[in-house]
Amino acid sequence: MSSPLGLYESLDVIGTGSFGIIRKVRRRSDGLIFARKELNFERMSERDRKQIVAEVNILKDLHHEHIVRYHDRYVDRDAGMLYILMEYCGGGDLSAIIKLAQRQGRPIPEDTVWSYFMQILLALNYCHHPNGYGRSSSAGTCESDGREKRPQVLHRDIKPDNVFLDESNTAKLGDFGLSKALTQASFANTYVGTPYYMSPELMQERAYDNKSDIWSLGCLIYELCALKPPFHEAKTHTELSLLIRNGRIPPLPKGYSPALTNIIKSMLNLNPALRPSAAQLLGHERLELAFKVSE
Ligand code: ADP
Ligand code: MG
Repeated sequence: MSSPLGLYESLDVIGTGSFGIIRKVRRRSDGLIFARKELNFERMSERDRKQIVAEVNILKDLHHEHIVRYHDRYVDRDAGMLYILMEYCGGGDLSAIIKLAQRQGRPIPEDTVWSYFMQILLALNYCHHPNGYGRSSSAGTCESDGREKRPQVLHRDIKPDNVFLDESNTAKLGDFGLSKALTQASFANTYVGTPYYMSPELMQERAYDNKSDIWSLGCLIYELCALKPPFHEAKTHTELSLLIRNGRIPPLPKGYSPALTNIIKSMLNLNPALRPSAAQLLGHERLELAFKVSE
């Protein structure tokens, strides 16, 4: 049998991930474009291999308009390579949008911020509340289509570089490399994410839950407005930890509404129990409006 590799034409390398490169490929049968993660599993430790398998297993069950769609995977044992085919996001990621705004000295318009906010929330709501409370977008629903119940998924590494954009500027949450599917009885309590977006409970090495993702999203939305993360002026991990845990959020630049400032503050509450859930956030008047505009 011929290798599935031959079914795709290799195009440019579009990124470098922690385990290998990401390449743009074209399916020969229909000309469709995909992103392909190419991983050399022979060079990976057992732990990393397990992480990759976990990432793929999480991704393949996530069907949502605002989550990078997983398509297929295949292994080339002779070459020691694992290939993961995903939806291609040709519009870059939110970190590039932030860098561009910085370079041009031009703030990101508030409506754009609300729109990205709403799209990421729809994805998080789908991950955090698999049994369907809160809202699901029309393309993202799964609770009534007869598919098996999904476990709750925490992303665990929400940051601007992990929110991709497709060619029509639709936001897609991706890079679930650190996510962990949780059964109801278990908690994720290890974390290796990016420290700027790390919640105070994680800084204190407490268990991670859906509210820790909400904290990171609060940091991300803040960064879309301020073009820098809320907590970053620290030289060491200890200094950063102090900054995060003292609870002082630097003011947003002028021009953003009190509604946006307040919702960001609520997500950056030091007490996880007091942060709103994704489902609660989606009920916010301004986010409902952003949802209607996008339909
Ligand atoms: P890592 O785990 O190393 O952060 P990512 O999955 O974030 O790996 O991928 C690294 C980079 O590759 C991204 O920042 C992006 O530039 C590119 N990339 C990854 N997935 C896609 C995709 N589906 N479409 C387009 N580019 C992608
Ligand atoms: Mg990444």
